[in-house]
Amino acid sequence: MGSRVLETSPATVSADERGEGRALQQVLILCHSDDTAGMRAMNNVCAGLDFSKIDFVVIDLQQVRAWPSLDAFSVVILSTSMLSKVSPERFDAIRTFVDAGGGLVAACRLWHAKLAALLGLPEVKPALHTSEGLVLRGELFPGLTTLQSDVPGWDFEHSRIPVRADSLPADCKVLAEDREGQPILWMRDVGAGRIVFWNTTSTDRRVLRGLVLHTVLGAMRTGVAAIGAFAIFQIDDFPPSLSNAVMEPVASEYAGADQTKFMFDIWHRDMLELKRRHDLRFTYYAVANYFDVDTAPDADMKAFPVQTGAEDFRERLARSLGIDAGDEVGFHGYNHEPLVDDHWPDLAVLRAKLLLARQIWLEHLPGGPPRSWVPANNWFQASHIAILAEVFPEIDIVCSLAVAGQYRLGEEREFGPEPWRHALLGLPRQTFGYVASDRVKLAMLSQVAAMGVWSHFVHPDDVYDVPPEGEESDYHRNAQKRFWRQRNESGLSGLFDELDAWLGEVRALFPWLEFVTTSEAAERYRRHIENVVEVRVARESVTIESDTGGNFFLRTRDEIDVVVSTGGHIRDRREVAGGMLHVLSCEPGRAEFRLVSGMSIERD
Ligand SMILES: [Zn+2]
Repeated sequence: MGSRVLETSPATVSADERGEGRALQQVLILCHSDDTAGMRAMNNVCAGLDFSKIDFVVIDLQQVRAWPSLDAFSVVILSTSMLSKVSPERFDAIRTFVDAGGGLVAACRLWHAKLAALLGLPEVKPALHTSEGLVLRGELFPGLTTLQSDVPGWDFEHSRIPVRADSLPADCKVLAEDREGQPILWMRDVGAGRIVFWNTTSTDRRVLRGLVLHTVLGAMRTGVAAIGAFAIFQIDDFPPSLSNAVMEPVASEYAGADQTKFMFDIWHRDMLELKRRHDLRFTYYAVANYFDVDTAPDADMKAFPVQTGAEDFRERLARSLGIDAGDEVGFHGYNHEPLVDDHWPDLAVLRAKLLLARQIWLEHLPGGPPRSWVPANNWFQASHIAILAEVFPEIDIVCSLAVAGQYRLGEEREFGPEPWRHALLGLPRQTFGYVASDRVKLAMLSQVAAMGVWSHFVHPDDVYDVPPEGEESDYHRNAQKRFWRQRNESGLSGLFDELDAWLGEVRALFPWLEFVTTSEAAERYRRHIENVVEVRVARESVTIESDTGGNFFLRTRDEIDVVVSTGGHIRDRREVAGGMLHVLSCEPGRAEFRLVSGMSIERD
């Protein structure tokens, strides 16, 4: 092709290959490099497609005049509103493509006279409006309809085409609204194809990545995405520091129990019960010495808190009965001071104290040096992790935060090589805590939707983190002053029951999700990334070729049923908006699944 088509994946299939009836599953993305909002939305989509091993071709309308034939693609994603230079015939071709069975996804709000009718938009170009909130109306992905509210905490803001629900064509199925009930996402079947319209620019938000990905899969007749199929459950700050402080709300619930009694005996006993009940694996993150907080350049290495660190650690470990052999202990720091300049101004002191931590670790933990590290506060700096790498060369995994915090502090990370130190693999945590608020649940469901992965963490002392008397605050980890097991005065159940219910729901929704330790998760992640996958789709079959096999989402439109032909099995199948979501397990090599539509059943 003579055009400057920007290809990021294997070349488009030839007519011959299509003639065989097996087209490579491919997505065409149209963007415009001057459209900042559209480019950001596209980057988010591409990260999702990348992990899912869905081949895609990007065309920048700013540079490229010629388009490849749309027939080679399952879906066209429009990720720009800058469409004025596109010739009218192109829009006719898109319309024909959809009629013939293709999918069209507007990944951000856009308007064009030639597309308005197809997308359900007004015929005359309207001025953009801004609105807020996100209320999910349909089961775009399993679990989403259980979200109760407009998902506070994420502060969604929509630059949108002012369309009211009652002005949309009747065949548009609204899947999300803003706080005022105005449509933000809809799906519509047109001819043999399907369109999806995101009436927002919030699709650049990482917390929506999985939802955006599933609109792409949902727009395909059959969409296949590779997934990780694993979950990580991390416990920060265990074993905790020893403390005889008797504090609320634990003091009322367990008369006289101090922190040591609660966290080592009650809390840990109950967590091990949850572990058995839901078949979890834990990775605990241990601090070597909570009491030595001297990080000053002239820190006295013979001070009392330094001297007592090892003995204290031995005692904490001895009280931590029941850490299962199949679980893991990772590193959470020498003390709990974050590895940034403000807290560790002197790298020589940091090195000296990390060496102490290493000594304590090797003397007391039978499993050898740690493999993974959770930064205290989730914060770190490039200069400081260089010292960590020097003292703990065995650490090759860092787990900070995925969808929260600040990038410059080491947070807001993607799965993959840590940008400031490529030898470290980042497996950041998506969610935290015991209560499945809409805020964390959306994050969890979107992560599972995007990757088939869930990464979660808790603290043993979350129950103590309540707002001061007479105050309410979202910032506190136990903002609603819940007890551990009992209901509180407001009738709210304890944190334990909340977590139990949350895990029960996860197990019911995603029975294929396997909890693994953090180092096992790193192996799974690497295997997933290295796996070479090729998906081919035909009218009556889907073929998945892969080096190492693995798990896949297969999303089909309503009328299609899936039957295994060879090389795999169906692990799960459930109804979602506009179709069915299957989870497939494939053997290495070739796996084939037959697609049985209503028509072919009649023919049979
Ligand atoms: Zn911590």
